Amino acid sequence: MRFTRLRLNGFKSFVDPTDLIIADGLTGVVGPNGCGKSNLLEALRWVMGENRPTAMRGGGMEDVIFAGTATRPARNFAEVALIVDNAERLAPAAFNDADQLDIVRRITRDAGSAYKVGTRDVRARDVQMLFADASTGSQSPALVRQGQISELINARPTSRRRILEEAAGISGLYQRRHEAELK
Ligand code: ATP
Ligand code: MG
Repeated sequence: MRFTRLRLNGFKSFVDPTDLIIADGLTGVVGPNGCGKSNLLEALRWVMGENRPTAMRGGGMEDVIFAGTATRPARNFAEVALIVDNAERLAPAAFNDADQLDIVRRITRDAGSAYKVGTRDVRARDVQMLFADASTGSQSPALVRQGQISELINARPTSRRRILEEAAGISGLYQRRHEAELK
């Protein structure tokens, strides 16, 4: 599965609809401090099901919604769409009927988050499992936050094990076992 586009609308500083094309090879995002580079990576985590506001550098999940500036009013929703190339049909069976998957998460003030894959309403868990089975997701070690390397150096062995499990492609199984144990 290859990410081909990231669309943002009302997410953090991206108040106007923004379409980031992720071409083959390396894509670089450059700009001055505070222009929104980290916000882009957070949008990627968020659409894959990240549910910890702290991972979004916020106090509550609604903090991802454009909060307004001196010249522009706040928005009351934020939406991020991740377009995934599924030509190799590696998505889980339930979603494996198209060459392209549009995964959309939208949050509305006072109404929480809703997810869609294509035109179908799905649960957060469906989106999280979709990416976990593809050995990626909001907590993938492929997404390196600012300051994360020094955190890793000081991490406990159990946290480091997660990274090995992810590399081995078993995080989806790990999550299912965890859910089975809770039942
Ligand atoms: P640096 O180079 O310093 O790492 P950066 O390009 O990574 O900077 P970000 O941290 O992505 O920048 O963007 C920070 C900007 O996003 C700040 O100007 C902040 O005000 C703005 N921002 C964050 N959340 C919101 C929000 N909910 N509404 C409006 N603006 C927001
Ligand atoms: Mg940054």
